[in-house]
Amino acid sequence: MKRVAVLIEMKDGKVKPACLGAISAAHDSDAELFALVFKGTAAASLETLQAHGIDRVIEITSQDGPIQWNADHWARAGIQALQYYNIKTLLGLASVQGKNLLSRIAALLEAPLVMDCTAVNLSEHTAVKSQFSGRAVAEFKTRGEYHLYGMRPNALSAVPSPGKAILEMFQAVLEKSKLRVLEVQQGLSDRVDLTEADIIISGGRGMENSDNFDILFECARPMSAAVGASRVAVDAGWVSHTMQVGQTGKTVSPKVYIACGISGSVQHFAGMKTAGIIMAINLDPDAAIMHKCDYAVCANLFDIIPALTRKLKEITG
Ligand SMILES: Cc1cc2nc3c(=O)[nH]c(=O)nc-3n(C[C@H](O)[C@H](O)[C@H](O)COP(=O)(O)OP(=O)(O)OC[C@H]3O[C@@H](n4cnc5c(N)ncnc54)[C@H](O)[C@@H]3O)c2cc1C
Repeated sequence: MKRVAVLIEMKDGKVKPACLGAISAAHDSDAELFALVFKGTAAASLETLQAHGIDRVIEITSQDGPIQWNADHWARAGIQALQYYNIKTLLGLASVQGKNLLSRIAALLEAPLVMDCTAVNLSEHTAVKSQFSGRAVAEFKTRGEYHLYGMRPNALSAVPSPGKAILEMFQAVLEKSKLRVLEVQQGLSDRVDLTEADIIISGGRGMENSDNFDILFECARPMSAAVGASRVAVDAGWVSHTMQVGQTGKTVSPKVYIACGISGSVQHFAGMKTAGIIMAINLDPDAAIMHKCDYAVCANLFDIIPALTRKLKEITG
């Protein structure tokens, strides 16, 4: 039977929901599904993974015990696990960590890797991703012994598929890496990662300045949303480039996207058109986004956002 593995990412001791979407991408392949986990997280992830159709959870350790985050070590240990279990197809997320790991694994294995996929057919070794700012969709076929795919976070929904997963330990043999992790800084920000957020609230030129973005952060907090921005807001130096959504920024697929003071240029749309629900708050009823969204609020964002924040705080306490 064919074997497919999914690289699992954890956050706050739980499997990232986007990983469950990546697992659902592998369901159709009729393969035995493996989950690869690091850092002693197998026990915490087992229940969730078996509820989503994983057959075997492999906790990868080394001769020194659990492997702390080091992209080089994780990639080399991951490859040893793939080779030991004879797994030829690997899925992960096109997240910050996933891009780092998958590209290293692909380079070490000299294997093809397709990043930011919105769908895969693991029997045919094909992957679908959008091109030309989302105006076209291309199908890529990978050839070779190994096939690697990075799924766009949240592009696929998690599909529950209850089963019984076996938990196994795999001990890799690692040499000293040339890459040294000096410090991992966590918890410096309580802000939600843009590419993995279920809800995104973004600001554009209509925000007027950097300080006004605070009202978006305040509104985002009670709904655990991430804050994004248009290129105009980034180019003006109001917010960091890491928050830019669009053709030259990040591609996002949240369940809800709230665009505040954003006109809806083709380039911005390229980064968020796959959102489940799009809501626009704009003064101009003829702004492009007002005709391309699910809910159009024709009003001043400085009236609507504080009112929305108040309501959300009321609801969430
Ligand atoms: C090669 C290339 C790549 C690009 N890549 C990107 C990209 O990745 N991402 C991106 O976003 N853009 C990108 N752009 C830029 C893009 O073309 C637009 O210029 C940009 O998206 C416009 O940003 P905006 O909607 O914030 O500003 P504007 O188009 O100026 O729109 C501002 C909107 O705010 C509304 N408004 C103003 N005040 C208020 C208020 N108080 N309340 C409510 N509404 C208000 C206005 O009615 C208006 O519709 C790219 C352009 C090029 C050429």
